[in-house]
Amino acid sequence: MSAVLANNPLDDALTQLRDAVDVLNYDEGTYELLGTPRREITVSIPLRRDNGQVEMLRGYRVQHSYSRGPAKGGLRFSDQVSLDEVRALAMWMTWKCALMDLPYGGAKGGVGFDPSLYSPAERERVTRRYTSEISPLIGPECDIPAPDVGTDELTMAWMMDTYSTARGHTVPGVVTGKPIVLGGSLGRASATSRGVVHVALAALAERGFVPSKTTAAVQGFGKVGRGAAVFLAEAGVRVTGVSDRFGGVYNPDGLDVPALARHVDRTGSVVGFEGSEAIDRDDLLTLPVDLLVPAAMESVITAANVDDIQATIIVEGANGPTTTAADRMLRDRDVLVVPDILANAGGVIVSYFEWAQANQTYRWPLHQVEQRLEERMLTAWEAVSTSAAKTGRTLRQTAMITAVQRVAEAHAIRGLYP
Ligand code: NAD
Repeated sequence: MSAVLANNPLDDALTQLRDAVDVLNYDEGTYELLGTPRREITVSIPLRRDNGQVEMLRGYRVQHSYSRGPAKGGLRFSDQVSLDEVRALAMWMTWKCALMDLPYGGAKGGVGFDPSLYSPAERERVTRRYTSEISPLIGPECDIPAPDVGTDELTMAWMMDTYSTARGHTVPGVVTGKPIVLGGSLGRASATSRGVVHVALAALAERGFVPSKTTAAVQGFGKVGRGAAVFLAEAGVRVTGVSDRFGGVYNPDGLDVPALARHVDRTGSVVGFEGSEAIDRDDLLTLPVDLLVPAAMESVITAANVDDIQATIIVEGANGPTTTAADRMLRDRDVLVVPDILANAGGVIVSYFEWAQANQTYRWPLHQVEQRLEERMLTAWEAVSTSAAKTGRTLRQTAMITAVQRVAEAHAIRGLYP
């Protein structure tokens, strides 16, 4: 059964849209149009457990928009998954792709179960049945899934294989974030983290911080958080705190991040890392640091803990980590929040490169992928931060206005059918 979130991320996503629509002076009909998913599907997944028992899981795929191109967005396996969460995440994908000027709309998928409690064979059966159920909706020209929380490149390999087997030929462009050997892009696995760190360093520079004199805390040590911690440390930033779902670790002198990564490879968690003090996983957010990178789940920075946050720069590696109420309080305190649709766009940028390579059947070298990723991240950062400085709006408001305007223009030019 899916857990009920105290904060509904869809409310936050819709409030952000409402704010942008108000500034753009669009009418109520346009707000409704932009706030409503184009298509959503709920599927039942009967899973045969390894012990022979059958368990029913529920999965979703929401296509929020395809006005600017095929829908694009990750697939999440988590016991927190709900239809509203997937709707919010799909909407944020639309704005992210529009902001980064990628030829995509937005989508998201989810299955409500905790994959860590299931064997690899069970996870494979869930993935294949889910793919088969949503298969009429996905494809390289209509909707392209990718990894998200609780899924990885192996999940994408199973998805591609299931989809391809049904069609009788290999379709590499149906998913991104695939293993390299199946046509994945060099640089995709680290792309989100690299992008987070490109904009984090730009934000630090804007606020007058020098990396070697900066401290940072990273929430989450998965595909996004781990790379973010590694690349921040490589840039000279002192990463003093890191957490995962099991707990947190802190060392005011700086954690040895590569050694911590090896510890996680051995033990499965940051907990128990030598040379660090154990902290409660939620206390990570309120550590005395300059830079905070939430890179785990949505709705973690709330009205309840925002007053205790000491960082003056927050770079949203996760999608939707800041609730609307907390966001307003951070703005009043002049904390610089680099919003998710800008900060964590590196993943979908290199997913786009992977899709382009699949369509070209031509592999780009790593340096080219990384250089183009950096260019796109810094171009978007420059545009958003310059415009925010001129108007006095926050980075989130500015990014949202740009993105919503692009999607609304695409709608208007295409017109309504019939
Ligand atoms: P992941 O499953 O690889 O890692 C999630 C991490 O968060 C794990 O270390 C987990 O233990 C930790 N975690 C979960 N709950 C926590 C809590 N309450 N406190 C501290 N840590 C907790 O997922 P991921 O792919 O790294 O995604 C993380 C976030 O980044 C999500 O919001 C996702 O939507 C977003 N994102 C991911 C990508 C991508 O390319 N993977 C791209 C853009 C955005």
